[in-house]
Order: sequence, then structure tokens, then C-alpha cells
Amino acid sequence: MSTTVRAAAKINLHLGVGAPREDGFHPLDTVYQAISLYDDVTVAEAEEDSLSVAGSAYIDVRDVPGDASNIAVRALAEAACRSPHHVRITKQIPVAGGMAGGSADAAAALLAHDRLHGLSQPDEVLLAQAARLGSDVPFSLVGGTARGRGRGEVVEPVADRGPWWWVVVPARTGLSTPDVYRHFDRLHPDAPAQPAEPTGLLAALASREPVRLARTLHNDLQEPAIDLRPELGALIQRGEAEGALRGMVSGSGPTCVFLCDSQEGAMAVMAALSASYDVVLPAIGPVAGAHVVEVL
Ligand code: ATP
Repeated sequence: MSTTVRAAAKINLHLGVGAPREDGFHPLDTVYQAISLYDDVTVAEAEEDSLSVAGSAYIDVRDVPGDASNIAVRALAEAACRSPHHVRITKQIPVAGGMAGGSADAAAALLAHDRLHGLSQPDEVLLAQAARLGSDVPFSLVGGTARGRGRGEVVEPVADRGPWWWVVVPARTGLSTPDVYRHFDRLHPDAPAQPAEPTGLLAALASREPVRLARTLHNDLQEPAIDLRPELGALIQRGEAEGALRGMVSGSGPTCVFLCDSQEGAMAVMAALSASYDVVLPAIGPVAGAHVVEVL
């Protein structure tokens, strides 16, 4: 028997970062949105534990750990799973791209394991397991649009009257999230303890006006990401020159996302960027959190 769960990539419409706390973590005030790029994770009963990874043509599966360090495998350990399983991951979400691909896989594995064995654990139990695996994992379970505080793991759904149209441009090589935070600390040794709040953005999300949303997008990690990868700045300028309402780095990067005024607008920006960039993908948001797509 096997269960397959689909989980979406996230972008951060707002990412306010405060000065590191005593425990070394940065306090965050963020608004996540799940967008229509997905990883599928199948958990199947097996004779012994194993893992296989496949993905879209633009994914280099060698970047994904093939051993027990893979976060989907760690999710099964977190779920106190005792019997052996085969885990199959099919990736569409760029690896180390600032889109929480690993977190999506962890959330999908937790849910697939729960459903495969008919456990039907309450949401609070799955969310607590998710938070122990990583700051973005609870949001990957919940999906939609949600505000995240603490390290990002305390999630609360927010009103969003989308859909919003996005164009996504992944980079060939990933950026390490810890490196981007370290660079943030170097650039902002005097960062405030309290991260910036998303007040204007929350009103824009409820308005259904893309121009308003574009004005209120905010990412404190964009500056350090561009400082580490100057070509991201050029990409953002190019997308905006081609008609996107706003381009931004997704989370810690290096994927860049462009908010467009409509589906037609997104298609035009895609066509223009495709002349210079190998991989340019359309997406809408918000979409659902982790959900079962196949039971065999
Ligand atoms: P975030 O935005 O949450 O910081 P990210 O999108 O930048 O994450 P991921 O794709 O989650 O980055 O991958 C970060 C690292 O985690 C990878 O470089 C890889 O070594 C490791 N990893 C472990 N398991 C997975 C997985 N299932 N998929 C992708 N990467 C994984």
C-alpha cells in the first residue's frame, strides 16, 4: 500500500527579519503564500527503508540528499515510524531556491505516513511534528496564505482575495539559507529586535488589487541575497522592465518571483524573460497545503 501527498512551494510576500535572539535564531514576521509549484511524496510499505528522487528537467536530483539526511526521511523518524518504507520524491520545487522545497517534502511525508497507516492524528500533533522538523514545515502543511511568527513556525491564516499571478525564475545553483542570514547580520549589525510588520500588505491582500499588493511586498533578505548574487538584481530589473508589477527574491533566494497584473500579463512577462533565461515558470497563489493525491 502507498499514499502520495502533494505539497506546494512557498514564497514570502513579506519577510521581516529581526536581530538574532540569544538562541541564534532570527525572529521573523512573515506572510507566506503557497504557489502552484509542487513536490509529490509517496510513502509506501516496503521490506526495507529506501528513498528515490526524481524531478522536472530543471532539477538536478544530485542536489537532493539520497540518504537518511533527506528531510522527508527525517519526517518519518519524527513521526515515530517503526516499519520500513520506500519514500519516492518527485520534485518540481527548485532545490535550495528559497521556496521551502525540503519543507514541502517533510510536510508531505508526515501527512502521507499518517494517512497510509490510518492514524488520522489531530492537526495540532502534525503541526508540532512539523515545527520540530523546520520553521517552514508547518506552513507547508497549512498552505494558502498565512502569517508566520517566531522562527516562522507559528502560523495563522490571513485573508487573501487572490488569485495572484506570478512568474518564477529559478537559478541554476542554490543559495544556502544560513549564508544569507549571516550576510544579513553583517549588513545590519544594528537590526531591530522586532521584525517589520506586514500591515500594508495584509490590507492589500484583502483588496484584490495587484498594484496595491505590488507596492507592499517586502523582503529583508533580498539585499543580502543580491549582494551575494548581483545577477539577481539585474533579473529583477529586467522582469519589471518587461511589465511585471514587481519582482523580488523569494525568501533567501536565489529564485526570483514576479507579480503580474493578470494571466495575460504573466504570459507576456514569461515570453520576454524566456529569451534570456532557460527556466521561466508560471504560477498562481494561493493554493492548498499538503493534500493526498493518490492512494494505492
Ligand atoms: P528554505 O526556503 O526553507 O530555507 P530552500 O528552498 O532554500 O529552503 P530546500 O530546497 O529546502 O531549500 O533545500 C535546502 C537544503 O536541504 C538542500 O541544499 C539539501 O541539501 C537539503 N535537503 C534535505 N532534504 C531535501 C529535500 N527533500 N529536498 C530538497 N533539499 C533537501
